[in-house]
Amino acid sequence: DIEHPLDNEIYEELDPLLEAIDKQNKEKDAVANMRKEFSANVSHELKTPLTSISGYAEIMKNGLVKPEDIQNFSERIYKEARRLITLVEDIIKLSKLDEESVELEKEEVNLYDMTREIVSRLSMQSSAKHVRMILEGESVTYTGIRQILDEMIYNICENAIKYNRPGGSVSIWVGNTLEGPKVSVTDTGIGIPEEHLERVFERFYRVDKSHSKEIGGTGLGLSIVKHGALLHQAKVSVDSTVGEGTRISIVFSKNK
Ligand code: ADP
Repeated sequence: DIEHPLDNEIYEELDPLLEAIDKQNKEKDAVANMRKEFSANVSHELKTPLTSISGYAEIMKNGLVKPEDIQNFSERIYKEARRLITLVEDIIKLSKLDEESVELEKEEVNLYDMTREIVSRLSMQSSAKHVRMILEGESVTYTGIRQILDEMIYNICENAIKYNRPGGSVSIWVGNTLEGPKVSVTDTGIGIPEEHLERVFERFYRVDKSHSKEIGGTGLGLSIVKHGALLHQAKVSVDSTVGEGTRISIVFSKNK
């Protein structure tokens, strides 16, 4: 057979195109898989507290609870319902981030003032756990989506309290660096084992399921941080030593 010179040229041009299409399809598959996995997780996470609630309620409805246990049962139903509310709120926050928050306007935010306000919102939680919160640094402004920046800083500070030891501390630093504005939160808590460091940003991922359940949480906090960082071209880093503590930092890129 005679090889047609033109055919070869066409193939040379087609190859990268076909490769690009192939890559695109693979990315689509990965996104579809993530969606599927997410829905499966959501269903599971919603079903667990709902099953408990309906179970407790059914026992009460059938008059099978001794009067002295009614308080205890109501308490359990209340707790599971609160858990559901937090979960649904976090899922809504995450899905808003997925829509890339097109409708949310960027504005100039003073990250130091925002963090100070978050620290005061968390004061009940920190004093209940006898954890001291220390905020240092300087005023620094950044143009971003206020609500999302707030959720990011809040989640990291809240974790620093939740996973701390009684009598521990949370040191927060907010200020400017050569790379850009930075918020850094250091705790004296339980730490994160190295093999889990990468995974804690995944949706619903918790290092220790039983421990986390006791502490309370949805496993969505840090994925909200990660998605918020993507939206703001910010970098999140984690440093942790088991039994000593964790430092999570967000570095925002300089506003152009
Ligand atoms: P959760 O709602 O469970 O706190 P997050 O997404 O905020 O979910 O965090 C995921 C997991 O990462 C937590 O369950 C916990 O195991 C671990 N983690 C997060 N922050 C810290 C921290 N400051 N110290 C120790 N472990 C942490």
